[in-house]
Amino acid sequence: MVGLVETMLKLLGVCLLTVACAGTAAAAGDSAKPAAQSASGLENRPFAFPLDPSPADTPPYCADFEMTSDWTKRQPKYHAARDYARPAGTPVYAIADGRVSFSGRMGGYGWLVIVDHPQANLYSLYGHLSPSRWRKRSGSVRKGELIAYLGDSTENGGTPRRPLVTHLHFGVRAGQRADYPSKGEWRWQAGWMRPMPSNLGWLHPAAVLAAASIPAGGYRRPKMDFLSVWYPELLLVGIFLLVGMGSAGYAYRKKRPALLLAYGVSLSVIAAVFSVRGMATGSILLVAGILLFALGVFALLRRRLRGDGG
Ligand SMILES: [Zn+2]
Repeated sequence: MVGLVETMLKLLGVCLLTVACAGTAAAAGDSAKPAAQSASGLENRPFAFPLDPSPADTPPYCADFEMTSDWTKRQPKYHAARDYARPAGTPVYAIADGRVSFSGRMGGYGWLVIVDHPQANLYSLYGHLSPSRWRKRSGSVRKGELIAYLGDSTENGGTPRRPLVTHLHFGVRAGQRADYPSKGEWRWQAGWMRPMPSNLGWLHPAAVLAAASIPAGGYRRPKMDFLSVWYPELLLVGIFLLVGMGSAGYAYRKKRPALLLAYGVSLSVIAAVFSVRGMATGSILLVAGILLFALGVFALLRRRLRGDGG
């Protein structure tokens, strides 16, 4: 969480910096002009632009794909998406048919929506949305369907003290949300990262939007070494498991079934929080929680029976 907050603080800085430099960056070349695409009748492409076309869909953006945050002295990070500056309340649309695989509050994003598109083996990410306006919470969506509105500068990851430029952070990535963990550099909700985003399956949003067709078999995920991808999330789960099981062992030895029940419930609640945060490994904690609870019930029954017998 600290990492995410730090990341989003950097984003704030980059956005402010970029907006401040808008005049000088305007001359920069850019191959993608979504407004022009739309105007020239390219709506038949597989992916639609996530916003209403606007003359403002030309450079500069808050931050472009793989832009570096080298405004800090530390190791730079790369932007895994493209930002589009727009007023708060601007409607945001799904780029293709799909299924909402995440819709919730997320650190510096304010509200975040992720849509899986299995037909293209791709997911799209829409950040800095409004938690106070209507937003799609779950279920399937159609191409061009309204999913949310952009958030105000104080609810889109910004605060009254540190408002954030109102904008859409739009990312696309090969694979489905569940293919990636929620912790570490491979995290599915990442906005800024140290490795080059294209090495981790992130695609250039403008290139995907401009694609005339979906590649055969969908977009290919990069080669992923299971442990190096999942170890940060597994480590977190391991710590909770170790503490939970250690406490349970103590309670069992001391014949305190009520404590076992409490630990079982606690692990299940933590598992639920993991699930809400979109952490796939939460199910491991849920199984452990249920086992501890069952063990507590078993110990309680055994004590009762023994009590009745004696
Ligand atoms: Zn962004």
